[in-house]
Amino acid sequence: MLDRVLSPRRARRFQRLLRNGKLTLLCLVLTVIVLRANLGAGKFGTPEKDLDEIRETFSYIRRRAEPRRVLEEAKTEQKSGGSTESGSNNYAEFDITKILKDEDDGVQEFKRDPSQSYSLGPKISDWDQQRAEWLKRNPGFPNFIAENKPRVLLVTGSSPKPCENPVGDHYLLKSIKNKIDYCRVHGIEIFYNMALLDAEMAGFWAKLPLIRKLLLSHPEVEFLWWMDSDAMFTDMAFEVPWERYKDHNFVMHGWNEMVYDQKNWIGLNTGSFLLRNCQWSLDILDTWAPMGPKGKVRDDAGKLLTRELKGRPVFEADDQSAVVYILATQREKWGDKVYLENAYYLHGYWGILVDRYEEMIENYHPGLGDHRWPLVTHFVGCKPCGKFGDYPVERCLKQMDRAFNFGDNQILQMYGFTHKSLASRRVRRTRNETSNPLEVRDDLGLLHPAFKAVKVSSP
Ligand code: UDP
Ligand code: MN
Repeated sequence: MLDRVLSPRRARRFQRLLRNGKLTLLCLVLTVIVLRANLGAGKFGTPEKDLDEIRETFSYIRRRAEPRRVLEEAKTEQKSGGSTESGSNNYAEFDITKILKDEDDGVQEFKRDPSQSYSLGPKISDWDQQRAEWLKRNPGFPNFIAENKPRVLLVTGSSPKPCENPVGDHYLLKSIKNKIDYCRVHGIEIFYNMALLDAEMAGFWAKLPLIRKLLLSHPEVEFLWWMDSDAMFTDMAFEVPWERYKDHNFVMHGWNEMVYDQKNWIGLNTGSFLLRNCQWSLDILDTWAPMGPKGKVRDDAGKLLTRELKGRPVFEADDQSAVVYILATQREKWGDKVYLENAYYLHGYWGILVDRYEEMIENYHPGLGDHRWPLVTHFVGCKPCGKFGDYPVERCLKQMDRAFNFGDNQILQMYGFTHKSLASRRVRRTRNETSNPLEVRDDLGLLHPAFKAVKVSSP
């Protein structure tokens, strides 16, 4: 028909135009369908609602773009300020060595006169009196929060630098989470230290200046509980028998014969101990510290300790050997105030405990604290934050996970959950949800234990 109105060439061009138009129309329809599916209210939406939602979506995209713009502005500002920071937003690929270098690296610290022996600070000899007066003046901060319940500060910490392998920091996180849980349940305060307060006392000696500082700054604290970062609570229900130590100032896991008779360097362990806030403790810290300073002093002291103590390998002086040496050589001076505890695991060596967790679950229950259900599992020698440990890394990390889960199950059970197995991070429910949540009793009574209750005196 077109041929009759138009010339054949023109008619062909017109038909082509029509075909293209159809294609364009089809594309338009398809675009609208796709837009409706993604942005609109689907087949239930009205055109009005669609429009609203499209408007919403575009304003959302605009809002999302905003922080990026702010970042980009900040970036250009930093660049003009002479910074060498790279602009990548990718944590997975970021080269961590860029931030590991500290401003002060390489700066020489003030050096102590080497002819003077090391001291933790100015001599204090009337601490008991100073502290007693403070406690009298501050009745709002009693050193006992109930009868036979001293105010306790749990102190732990780790190096100021990230671990050699980033996974080490993940284990530090698990370890402090574990301690927070125990301390919350038992009404104990926590101090986590990452500052090296005295450059000479690096490594395992770092705890000494810290402990002295905390005792003197917190007269309200009756007992300070040092715990290594590689030690975890595995009995959340066990309360320390405080009354047993009423006449003692220094409580460690250990055996009298091994320390005093054999002078065995593993006769006690300093990975978890209790120290009373008193003059006696300041005095033993003063006696303990002089073997600590890094370098020649620590190396020479290491030789003496290896020579004098049973079973000690050759290495620089460590805080544990130093305590064994002091107690074994000056028993009359310190012995009567030191309690070497072995009725429960204030410290428990991981090697003899971790393969028995299933057997413990089968036969016993939390609250015992001893070989049947250890209060603490301490990963001595694993060094998860360092470069080299004394044991295979895989065994250490797997067993640390098991110890964590073993302890964590006692926390999770309060809320009706448990780990799928000691090897699993995942959890499962142990009971159904209820509309009477206050009627659910947790089996171990850890939600509101008696040892946490604090008497509130009426004004
Ligand atoms: N530590 C610290 N700052 C440091 C290094 C170590 O506070 O810079 C602490 C940390 O809590 C660690 C403890 O010192 O757990 C003792 O070291 P480690 O546990 O590695 O010794 P081990 O128990 O294996 O003999
Ligand atoms: Mn340790």
